[in-house]
Amino acid sequence: MNKLKLYNTLTRQKQEFIPIKKGKAGLYTCGPTVYNWAHIGNLRTYLFEDILRRVLEFNDYKVKQVMNITDVGHLTSDADSGEDKLEKGSAREGKSVWEIAEFYTKTFRQDLKDLNIQEPHKWIKATETIKEQIDFVKKLEKRGLTYQTSDGIYFDTSKYSDYVRLAKLNLAGQQEGSRVEINNEKKNPTDFALWKFSPAGSKRQMEWKSPWGIGFPGWHLECSAISIKALGKEFDIHTGGIDHIPVHHTNERAQNWGLLGKEVVRFWVHGEFLVINNDKMAKSDGNFITMQSLKDKGINPLAYRYFCLQAHYRSKLNFSWEALQAAQTGYDNLIRDISVLDKPGQACDTCLGKFTQAINDDLNISASLAVVQELLKSDKPSSKKRQTIIEFDKVLGLNLNQYKVAKKISSDVQRLIDERQQARQNKDYQKSDELREQLEKRGIKIKDLSDGGYKVD
Ligand code: AMP
Ligand code: ZN
Repeated sequence: MNKLKLYNTLTRQKQEFIPIKKGKAGLYTCGPTVYNWAHIGNLRTYLFEDILRRVLEFNDYKVKQVMNITDVGHLTSDADSGEDKLEKGSAREGKSVWEIAEFYTKTFRQDLKDLNIQEPHKWIKATETIKEQIDFVKKLEKRGLTYQTSDGIYFDTSKYSDYVRLAKLNLAGQQEGSRVEINNEKKNPTDFALWKFSPAGSKRQMEWKSPWGIGFPGWHLECSAISIKALGKEFDIHTGGIDHIPVHHTNERAQNWGLLGKEVVRFWVHGEFLVINNDKMAKSDGNFITMQSLKDKGINPLAYRYFCLQAHYRSKLNFSWEALQAAQTGYDNLIRDISVLDKPGQACDTCLGKFTQAINDDLNISASLAVVQELLKSDKPSSKKRQTIIEFDKVLGLNLNQYKVAKKISSDVQRLIDERQQARQNKDYQKSDELREQLEKRGIKIKDLSDGGYKVD
């Protein structure tokens, strides 16, 4: 078997994955901030993490995946100022923060289900680990790594000489204020809040007592506390989107070092962004598309999964409706080709070898999809093809093992078919050809019959 290699952001190299405990892999994936719908950019990151987990499982590792749910403490600004995103969601919708968190946790889990993303083995909410987070800060304080300002307890990043490594930050060139608001009480621009005080004279919906005063934990703290609690003082892989490298993960790494004096995470693995016209998709910019809006347009969520799998997780992926429509057609064609195969027989070992070589090379899924196509085009026995596809789908998660079923026709496709029939009757062949093209783009092939009727293929 080919050895699994992953690109480690910390070393800037593809490295062989050697687990801490033989046959096991601990995987921590930063979870959603549940104050709004996840957008399809966020979901691209969860898709890449799902592929990573499936590849580990394909390599026979017993994976333990843990994901946090940020239900408190994520502020609208990286500079530890601005509103708490949950409180913002609460004001927007006139619900309590607890209701907001519950609602958007539910919608997020539905998104995962639609996309055939496996749920983590353990979900842990930030609000369930307040005690652990307070204990964490106490230990950092004991080691002389913290200081107090008028609005909270901060981590003194100048105490950690290796602070810059993960993001290759250039501290000399970093001027606080260009991107973040200036906080005059901070000793260094990169210092960050571990505990924030509730604003004087006001009561937050979520606040807790602490040795330093009533308040709430900083966002980075929850991920350090939760990952170490659930996966141990050293664990294999920590993932997230690339935006997390310079702040969130750099700060987590500093906290981990502060607590344990060592590197806790072996592999830091990051996924690139989904962009629209080279602009990142972000909730704050208002240019975001949700899973629901894809479904409303008749897009199969698995076609979005297929769309994402065509690009390497470390490359930017540009979203357009045309490209997604093409992926939908490609996906439908793939299912159609597989659905006619015989019942499974024996898998093709050479094909599995090629597939494994692709996925083990830092998750080269697009190359593995080429192996799928090559297999389908080959003259191998149909039953062998099906069994091999079943094996491939353990990683791809595209529900490829389908048999010929009557094509489901949605109401808007039926409307196009009816319109085309009408055009044919009116001898308006230009229009009927245009409608045929539109239908083909949706993976529907129409065969005209000599009696004036039609057959859907
Ligand atoms: P959030 O809920 O904002 O904490 O983000 C959830 C995950 O989505 C994080 O791992 C982010 O790095 C990731 N993310 C945010 N925007 C994008 C994007 N446009 N494309 C891909 N991943 C993203
Ligand atoms: Zn995190």
